[in-house]
Amino acid sequence: MESSKMHMELEAQYGARNYKPIPIVISEAEGVWVWDPEGRKYLDCLSSYSAINQGHRHPKIMQALEEQSKKLTLTSRAFYNNRLGKYLKKLCEVSGFEVALPMNTGAEAVETGIKIVRRWGYRVKGVEKDKAEIIVCHNNFHGRTTTIAGLSTDETASADYGPFPPGFKKIPFDDTEALEEAITENTVAFLVEPIQGEAGVIIPSEGYLKRAKEICEKHNVLLMTDEIQTGFCRTGKMFCFEHDGIKPDVLLVGKALGGGVIPVSAAITRKDVMDVITPGSHGSTFGGNPLGCAVAEAAMDVHIEERLDERSAELGDYMLKHIRAIDSPVFKEVRGKGLFIAIEVKEEYGKARPFTERLKDKGLLAKETHEQTIRLAPPLIIKKEEVDWILKILRETFLDELK
Ligand SMILES: *Cc1c(COP(=O)(O)O)cnc(C)c1O
Repeated sequence: MESSKMHMELEAQYGARNYKPIPIVISEAEGVWVWDPEGRKYLDCLSSYSAINQGHRHPKIMQALEEQSKKLTLTSRAFYNNRLGKYLKKLCEVSGFEVALPMNTGAEAVETGIKIVRRWGYRVKGVEKDKAEIIVCHNNFHGRTTTIAGLSTDETASADYGPFPPGFKKIPFDDTEALEEAITENTVAFLVEPIQGEAGVIIPSEGYLKRAKEICEKHNVLLMTDEIQTGFCRTGKMFCFEHDGIKPDVLLVGKALGGGVIPVSAAITRKDVMDVITPGSHGSTFGGNPLGCAVAEAAMDVHIEERLDERSAELGDYMLKHIRAIDSPVFKEVRGKGLFIAIEVKEEYGKARPFTERLKDKGLLAKETHEQTIRLAPPLIIKKEEVDWILKILRETFLDELK
């Protein structure tokens, strides 16, 4: 009999220790639910860091995967394929932009964005060679490559991985005065998450992106938003920037674009900006592969057809209101936008980890981010009854069993 214990031991013995998972093995999944090899059932309240907004194995996405897998999976970009163009058109229509560059992982989309804005800086803005600067925020999370690890202000993510490339300036998040002060004639872009996900669902003050956009425009700087986690309805709109009524200059997407099946990411922008990218100057063997394109088209369709933006907004408001109403002495703060919610645990009650392990024992899978915060981000297809079940488990854990 295959046991959870066996799988955890195999990972511990043969795998690098770059993660510290909650001790549960998942062997099957459907919708918002997952099962372990012993047949225990859990509700997935992390959604693979928002990469499974459509729920596990959504039928429409699985159908696209199956059908495409029978025809064509990979061509490389040495040749055209019959899926990429249609996919790019949909991605541009859904996001409201003109052109996209297809990649696979989120970190690759960010790297692509960095290349685009730097080239734009040299070739359009007229920045002196090798002087381009990009402004980023404290406590950002943009991925794990060596360049991006260098942007991090989190020691755990960056210690002893240097030397890091120059050309980045770090300023506090949600501080537009600091942004304006940091801009010089060499500044090409401001790279920012509309809501900082990995930092613990940190929501900036109202209108932050709008003010940032005004400042960027005034100084001829590109606003590049990383919506790899906030994108595709997570915060109650298709993209989080819509809450501010603005459009960034460059948009980075990933995670849910792959429908929980295959890594699909992109850097999306205007034609005049993307024009700096010329043949041979950037690429990816798997980027724009037909299997990924078919899956991503279906993944976007699900968001639109099932109005996941409205679901996320309505159920998110409902969930946030009722978590706050639990009024647990453990809660330092409960915050959220759409179904992107965080509970911050008061330090006198210890760290978040023992709570996430207790939630797991009750069948609710959530993961702590940093020491004190529990992120709740279920698949957006979740039903109200399932949200009520989450609320019941939270009430037990954070109120009834404390007494
Ligand atoms: C997850 C994430 C990334 C990196 O995506 P990967 O697919 O893990 O490389 C980048 N930015 C944000 C905001 C993320 O949440």
